[in-house]
Amino acid sequence: MFAFQDTAAPVEIAFTDRHGGVSGGPYASLNLAEPGSAAAPAAESDAVRRNVDLVVRAFTGAGDGAPTPSVVRMRQVHGSEVAVADPAAATPTADGLVTRDPGVVLMVRVADCVPVLLADPHAGVVGAAHAGRPGLVAGVVPATVDAMRELGARQVRAWVGPHVCGRCYEVPEQMRADVAAAVPESFAETSWGTPAVDIGAGVRTQLERAGVQLTEVSRCTLEDDDLYSYRRQGTESGRLAGLVWRRP
Ligand SMILES: [Zn+2]
Repeated sequence: MFAFQDTAAPVEIAFTDRHGGVSGGPYASLNLAEPGSAAAPAAESDAVRRNVDLVVRAFTGAGDGAPTPSVVRMRQVHGSEVAVADPAAATPTADGLVTRDPGVVLMVRVADCVPVLLADPHAGVVGAAHAGRPGLVAGVVPATVDAMRELGARQVRAWVGPHVCGRCYEVPEQMRADVAAAVPESFAETSWGTPAVDIGAGVRTQLERAGVQLTEVSRCTLEDDDLYSYRRQGTESGRLAGLVWRRP
């Protein structure tokens, strides 16, 4: 179920893999995509809702039937908008979420893009961001750190989750040049010698410049069959998730 878990008391951190859920076919089995999206069409939506419940129970330690904290997710659009999580509101259109509410689990979903979880355990402020290539250029990760600081965070830590690595993420040469013009550290080459973008390296640079200490979860979604990869599976790829929660 979990590709990685960490605790920075009172904050819990996790990234899921694709095992332990109820989805079948190409989405098997722990698909956590947005219900109704291309990665969770109507026939898959019920399975996704059950998967979210299974994951949140395991993540928070809530037993069967016991109440679980609210999960706030976002409609991710490869932008740089950051929303303050509000469990009573509709799912925000954003690529960054922040909260200081201990009743809320933040969730970010990816298949090759970079999921970033953030926390100032002492201040009790947490965040989550979705950084693909456009999000890297737009600066969604530093924008999320800024939004946490507006909520009172000072010493922010980050966990950079599984994503397609720079040796696998082939792009046209002009695209590599355009991304590198914004974030030079993202310039990369595939293992077969063609132009590539290293989104993870770009995100790590942005975090370091923002004064954030980071933990890298070095697993490549494209190379690791235990993870979902849009590049490997195409439109029938499920989504893995990053989860962050401050225990009450
Ligand atoms: Zn790779």
